Amino acid sequence: MNNDDFRQWSRRAADWGVDYRNTLRERPVRPLVEPGDILAGIEASPPEAAEPMDTIFADFEKKILPGMTHWQHPRFFAYFPANAAPVSVVAEYLVSAMAAQCMLWQTSPAATELETRTVDWMRQALGLPQGFSGVIQDSASSATLAAALTMRERALDWQGNRQGLSGQARLRIYCSDQVHTSIDRAIWVSGIGEDNLVRIPVAGRFRAMDTAALEAAVVADWEAGMLPAGIIASVGGTSTGGTDDIAGVAAVAKRHGLYLHVDAAWAGSAMICPEYRHFWAGVEQADSIVFNPHKWLGAQFDCSMHFIRQPEDLVRTLAIKPEFLKTHGRDGIINYSEWSVPLGRRFRALKLWFLLRAHGLESLRGMIRNHVAWSEGLATRLASEADFEIVTEPMLSLFSFRHLAEAGVDLDEHNLRLVNAINDDGRIYLTQTRVEGRVAIRFQVGQFETTAADVDAAFDVVTEIARGLV
Ligand code: PLP
Repeated sequence: MNNDDFRQWSRRAADWGVDYRNTLRERPVRPLVEPGDILAGIEASPPEAAEPMDTIFADFEKKILPGMTHWQHPRFFAYFPANAAPVSVVAEYLVSAMAAQCMLWQTSPAATELETRTVDWMRQALGLPQGFSGVIQDSASSATLAAALTMRERALDWQGNRQGLSGQARLRIYCSDQVHTSIDRAIWVSGIGEDNLVRIPVAGRFRAMDTAALEAAVVADWEAGMLPAGIIASVGGTSTGGTDDIAGVAAVAKRHGLYLHVDAAWAGSAMICPEYRHFWAGVEQADSIVFNPHKWLGAQFDCSMHFIRQPEDLVRTLAIKPEFLKTHGRDGIINYSEWSVPLGRRFRALKLWFLLRAHGLESLRGMIRNHVAWSEGLATRLASEADFEIVTEPMLSLFSFRHLAEAGVDLDEHNLRLVNAINDDGRIYLTQTRVEGRVAIRFQVGQFETTAADVDAAFDVVTEIARGLV
């Protein structure tokens, strides 16, 4: 592709993106395809000869687009959102055009320094105290892995990377039973092992881990000769929004010298609104906090903000400096690849900088407040229908519900059929979970383009399809 073609196709792609967004409402949120349908339409072998861009682009529209789930659809109420505000897409386009690689300060000085600045902007926006610094990771999973590795190294007096784990005391990490599976993965990959992830029972409306039980578990492990290393707390768990008492958990961490990581991957965005910060009161005592601006805040995927109170611990765990990565003659510079597991890094700060400037915090707060209010409104409406029950009350914009079928019908089976029927219908998209072992349907509002009318439409679709199930 020469530069003239590059210009032409970039413009075409930009026009396509606008038309796509304009027509989202007309599309089913989830594609109506079966597994293997898309694969069958793609040539089994790579081309030997160059193909014209017209053909490639036409194939994209014909063969790929029909198999896409539309995460930007205003009636996407499944999982958690993954927003791509148009301004962040523009920034990503620039980053792609530059093919920026930001592993070291010297491989992209502006990217490094903008990252430092945007991390601090986000710290201020979330009301975190001065002293937290941070890094933009690719995902919350990576941030949690980095935190688990730091817990491990700190507890082993920085000997784990060198000596391995065999022959070491048995490390222990504590969390509730509401945490995301990225915590399990971090514990597997860090070599600590699932058997050493101690799950503390939860209680109360927000399914917070019982801090007395947490402390008892830590004490029992010390007495048994094990090595408690850290706690991973949750603010806004994926299933139903499970949220720990961060201040209570932090007090236990402090008493026992444990490293505290807080996973607020989804709910963290809402902390730009001061009135929601009570959900993570005490967070300033955490050692490490992750939230994903690529979820609710509108930064194009991927963009995961990892705040750290003492970056030296993280750097001591992850930094590795072969001669070819050294920057001679520069003291005090940050090389963000020393703060994360991958060496190569994308330039993620640009889209956040564009986004925060183009929208301003006040308009982002307005969007999040609307989402929370609309979700609460829908929960209230469903609760007043005799054949529906609210299973978990709204935590920010997430709640779960269940349709009550006639006596004798298996409710779990009925609600799984309901969620499938809703998603096959295509007008809205929802996902299910289990609460105390029983199926519940999750609902969250988080898309940039969603309106109150879209949430009203969700009520109509859910009640219509539920009552039509035979
Ligand atoms: N933590 C929570 C609470 C989540 O909901 C998710 C994903 O939805 C994750 C962690 C993992 O996020 P990521 O996909 O950025 O690794």
